[in-house]
Amino acid sequence: MSEPREWTGAVSERLRCCICGGDTRGADDYILVELTAAPGQARQWFGAHAAHLNEVMAPGFKTDIHEA
Ligand SMILES: [Zn+2]
Repeated sequence: MSEPREWTGAVSERLRCCICGGDTRGADDYILVELTAAPGQARQWFGAHAAHLNEVMAPGFKTDIHEA
């Protein structure tokens, strides 16, 4: 039994939601967040449910999901 391949973005597998810590497999609103800091080249990726990220973002900011 193999599940249909899910979008994982720049990393090879889905990351846990950085807001709720929950599994993101099967989530339709999965997003990948890239974090960088000057002046280095290091980058870090965070996975999240868009709905959960929206809850913690400042008023006026919102993550929209667009079907690819
Ligand atoms: Zn979540």
